[in-house]
Amino acid sequence: MEKKEVDKSLFKAYNLAQRLSTLNEITLQIDAAENKLEIYEILRNETHWLLNCEILALAILSQIQTTYQIISLSSISDATGLNESYFTLEEGSPGWVIRNQNPIKSKISNIPQYSHTLEGKYEDLGIQNLMVIPIKSGQNKVGAFIFGSIDENEYTEDDLIIAQLYGLQVAVALNNATFVEDAKKRISQIESMNEISRILNATLDINQLLEQTAQAIQRNFNYFDVTIFLLSEDQSELILKAHSGNYIDFLPKDYRQKITDGIIGWVARNGENALVNDVTQDPRYKSYEYHNTKSELALPIKIEGKLVGVLNIEDKNLYAFDEMDVVVLQTLCEQIASALKNAKLFEEVKSANEKLQELDTMKSEFLGIVSHDFRSPLSSIILAGKALLKNEEVLSNQRLKEYLQLIVDQANRLNQLAEDTLQITKIETGQVSIAWQIVNTERMIKEAISAVRFSNRHTVSYYIDPDVSYIKADPAKLRQVVQNLISNAVKYSPNGGKVNIEVREHNNDEILFSVSDEGIGIKPEHRDKLFQKFSRVDSEHTKNIKGTGLGLWICKEIVEAHKGRIWVESEVGKGSTFKFAIKKMDN
Ligand code: ATP
Ligand code: MG
Repeated sequence: MEKKEVDKSLFKAYNLAQRLSTLNEITLQIDAAENKLEIYEILRNETHWLLNCEILALAILSQIQTTYQIISLSSISDATGLNESYFTLEEGSPGWVIRNQNPIKSKISNIPQYSHTLEGKYEDLGIQNLMVIPIKSGQNKVGAFIFGSIDENEYTEDDLIIAQLYGLQVAVALNNATFVEDAKKRISQIESMNEISRILNATLDINQLLEQTAQAIQRNFNYFDVTIFLLSEDQSELILKAHSGNYIDFLPKDYRQKITDGIIGWVARNGENALVNDVTQDPRYKSYEYHNTKSELALPIKIEGKLVGVLNIEDKNLYAFDEMDVVVLQTLCEQIASALKNAKLFEEVKSANEKLQELDTMKSEFLGIVSHDFRSPLSSIILAGKALLKNEEVLSNQRLKEYLQLIVDQANRLNQLAEDTLQITKIETGQVSIAWQIVNTERMIKEAISAVRFSNRHTVSYYIDPDVSYIKADPAKLRQVVQNLISNAVKYSPNGGKVNIEVREHNNDEILFSVSDEGIGIKPEHRDKLFQKFSRVDSEHTKNIKGTGLGLWICKEIVEAHKGRIWVESEVGKGSTFKFAIKKMDN
């Protein structure tokens, strides 16, 4: 070997060793970088020490593996305006390199898969030579590294080796950064999901619920624009229920879109997700003049497999969404569905309750009017009957007298019924008032007993503690309570037995009334409900006994108006004792 040649190859080797040590230094920096942006920054600042490159860019393979995105890393490549733009693998030399996993080193005009929008732009800026290197980390294809120079001389074999080694380091670093960023994103997504679940569970108002959910999704995941549509009742349209995002002049609330139209219509009809990376290429897309949407992700919201709405996300960039978004939003859609279900159930129950309440008030009003109006004609009948009963002629005719007595008695009962009914309506409309008086306890009990029809299978007895011979209460109302209890005692002891009434002093400051029977008794699980309006025990023993389930409710209302309490002690098959206690008042 001639000296000159030796010098030349020595020089070459030295030069390569120099570049390798520079590579080593840059690699150390890259390894220390915290995220992709820092890696890009290092590449931008340091690569020119390694390689002669006016153009420096990365082509990053997208998750869907059919496109790549250009990341510009030098000021000249910034000037192309291609930063962050997407190409398919069939366009441009990076696409060719990624598909074939072979590097290219050539004059720009001879480059395979030459694209006017990519290489054409480089050429316009005076780039003469290109070198494109596939980069991958392990089995993971990351994309390609693009170097371009204005130098007439092609890149050398050494340049290629350096570029390949460099690419390897960058790929590993980018992969790690992606991994860390994905993990971080996942954590923040989980946190966001938790927040959204909280919102979903916090309200039962459908409009508010959807509005807040749209806001939370948009804010937490930083989406460009989020909308939620619900399916119309006749299932022919989607109604815009909530919007949150950057389209200021968005469609108005309650805007209706035919289910036959647009991507959301397709999602509603098919019940499947639609992930559209470029809406201009999708025949399903329905465009709006003022929208510059480029990508759209729409997901069905289903309750028990039935479509009820669509969650729709839009973005002004191409390829704004990936499979990760789909997974996260799908989970959210399930949560939205279950919150919607709860809210709907709640609204149904609420409206059913309102209807019941309305019916109830109507019934009370009706009863009030009827019973009130019954009283005056009945009083006339009773008065006339009583007058006739004093008439000589009538008195001399036994049949006439008996019939007349019957009329007067029955009219009296009817009058009592009307009185009771009026009382019920008063209770229901909150008009019970207690007329406090000194009451002769024994007389009150006797009246109550005589108002109840006993059979000859029953015996009745009572005991009144002398300390409570006179009490302070509303006599008519108290009589009614006792009478209701006695009437139940008889009614619910069909085989007869003893009915016993007692009035005693209790705890010094209370008067305790009790009415006991030897009847069918009441199971523990039924005891609390008995005091509710229209509540009756449904059992073998009671099915032939008529009643409306109002008696005990009236008792409770009256006792409580006396600031007292009422309860029952009972043993099934042995009998029941109904008790109530009212405060003893000083006279
Ligand atoms: P009404 O409105 O005509 O009084 P009712 O007797 O059915 O009808 P309540 O007096 O409120 O209504 O009683 C409610 C239910 O409680 C009854 O249907 C019965 O099942 C049960 N019950 C009440 N008193 C007794 C009793 N002494 N022994 C057993 N069960 C009773
Ligand atoms: Mg009753």
